[in-house]
Amino acid sequence: MIPRKKIIAGNWKMNKTQAEARVLVADILQDIGRFDDAEIVLCPPFTALAAVSELLSPVSNVRLGAQNMHEAASGAYTGEISASMLRELYVRYVIIGHSERRQYFHEDNATVNRKTKAALAAELRPIICIGETLPEREANKWKNVLETQLIDGLVGFTDKELADIIFAYEPVWAIGTGKTATGAQAQEAHQWIRQILGKRFSPTAAEKVRIQYGGSVKPENAKELLSMPDIDGALVGGASLDSRGFTAIIKNACLE
Ligand code: PEP
Repeated sequence: MIPRKKIIAGNWKMNKTQAEARVLVADILQDIGRFDDAEIVLCPPFTALAAVSELLSPVSNVRLGAQNMHEAASGAYTGEISASMLRELYVRYVIIGHSERRQYFHEDNATVNRKTKAALAAELRPIICIGETLPEREANKWKNVLETQLIDGLVGFTDKELADIIFAYEPVWAIGTGKTATGAQAQEAHQWIRQILGKRFSPTAAEKVRIQYGGSVKPENAKELLSMPDIDGALVGGASLDSRGFTAIIKNACLE
């Protein structure tokens, strides 16, 4: 079996001013200390990226991520941010196709495909979010939904590119709702995702890919979820806004 380093990311969404972000990062760094058992990624809003970047040392295991980007290099796209603007702030990861982007900003699998291409070209690591809605789960369509999101979102990519992509399985019904998939439900979905990737790419490339779980991850459920064989980390929303909660998730999930 190929070992996969766990990756825990905090998606702050539209929360935290620069001043609040500085306090949160200082607390996280103090609580977590030097922690090499997982990769840790903080995804503040665009306006706090520079402030957070200044607090993260280049040798720290805590890295910077963005919540979104535009696929064009530059141009007349009012309100948008390009990959090179993120790179300049030492951003290394970018969340692509979060369900809130899909739901409120009409992003689809083709958008995800274009943004992922642009992110990889700029040497940013995309965290591609996929997941089914409640009606899709209840109608037992979740496997088809995940397959379509993966196949359409990854048109044109090679094994080499896949190696730089991280996936986040985020059942929409579990995001911000307090409802979490059980370990068994999440594992079944992650295994399915890896199976699809293994058919679309090579089985070895699929074996190496990291797949995070996201959806109401908390200190209390992190261990159960992250002890599943195909769950390689977590994308944490609400609970990442509190330093104690976020670092407890990391420690509970990653320490034996
Ligand atoms: C998310 O926004 O990616 C997320 C998983 O949110 P929450 O942890 O709050 O459900």
